[in-house]
Amino acid sequence: MAKWFANRPSGGHGPRPERAERAKLRVGIPKVLNIWTTHQFWLGFFASLGVSRVVFSSDTSEEQGREFGSGRGTVDCCYPVKCISGHYGELIFGQKRKIDILFSPMIYSMPSFLKGHVADSLACPRVMAAPENIKAGFLKEKDVFAEQGIRYVAPLVSLADPMQVPRQLFKAFDGVLTGLTFDEVREAVDQGYRTLAGFDREMRARSRRILEWCVREQRPCVMVLARPYHMDAGIGHEIEADLQAYGYPILWMQYFPTDPDLLDWMFNPEIRDGYIKSVLDISDVWPSSYSANTNEILWGAKAAARMPWITCVIRLTSYECGMDQPTFTPVQQIVERSGTLFFSFQELDSTKPAGSVKIRIETIAHYLERNSPTIIARKLAAMPEGCPLLPSAAPA
Ligand code: SF4
Repeated sequence: MAKWFANRPSGGHGPRPERAERAKLRVGIPKVLNIWTTHQFWLGFFASLGVSRVVFSSDTSEEQGREFGSGRGTVDCCYPVKCISGHYGELIFGQKRKIDILFSPMIYSMPSFLKGHVADSLACPRVMAAPENIKAGFLKEKDVFAEQGIRYVAPLVSLADPMQVPRQLFKAFDGVLTGLTFDEVREAVDQGYRTLAGFDREMRARSRRILEWCVREQRPCVMVLARPYHMDAGIGHEIEADLQAYGYPILWMQYFPTDPDLLDWMFNPEIRDGYIKSVLDISDVWPSSYSANTNEILWGAKAAARMPWITCVIRLTSYECGMDQPTFTPVQQIVERSGTLFFSFQELDSTKPAGSVKIRIETIAHYLERNSPTIIARKLAAMPEGCPLLPSAAPA
């Protein structure tokens, strides 16, 4: 995923003195938590404002925590939150060219593809509060931001509610970016959503191409059900990459294709029978659908259960995650009742137990090789005719 964090070209405005000022600024963003699925929004937003030098911190690592986060820990015991100190420290102390602004949004709600089909799309409360929490570690003896000449900007942002976002971000950057106007921010927010939507479309198209390859080659693939930051090599420990090395393509639930032809084929029988109201409805399995990432994990379990070429699901969760606990049983049951293999790596923390992960990956690969042909055949037989991924369903 790393290359997706690269800078984008700046926006299309003509030269204005204040934009020339902004073009000199360097903005640092810690690559943590829900930044993993919203980074393209921020790149589009800053580019539109003329701020094209955006740097993200690197993947989480023990060295990063030791070198830059040591002694700055705060009270949170949730592993992905604890790691953020190292990301802040790396942006403040570890850059060849110093940053001017450390931007760490308190993301209150997420732009989820399930919006409109669920009760809400909120972030985990620990995610929302994390920037305030971590900031404290850089203020406790002295104000490190002031000492380093860095502006710390951490607005609450309701990304699930586009009407609110321009006001929230204008308030955050007024006085920080020279000559900023509300109209500019509104335009930048629109650009952010467009950039994010374009990226998501491309990733979903790639996932669809993987599924089409699986159909053509009669090969299985693996779905990962996890929160966005498990894509971080230091949080998810690249467990899915180890499995991919055995020749099994990996789909991340966040980027499962949502093309109508595919979802209609997968879910229409249940809509017709009155179990669900739409292809993105999860009320049959998860009535309290307030958390964006939790909702998506539950929907991903349903999608994996119905897609014949997904013969295995890998579930990743982090140490001290209270949000994931209640989802363990429903997710496992949804997946296993369809005959799909299910393996869970829980309580992931800073240490990668390389030996035991290796043994488990070997076991998973063994089960995949032995059982996949039968699982594909059984799941396909349980689904309606006319799968749009099959060559016979392609338009003439
Ligand atoms: S969802 Fe879990 S792991 Fe993630 S921030 Fe919240 S409590 Fe921590």
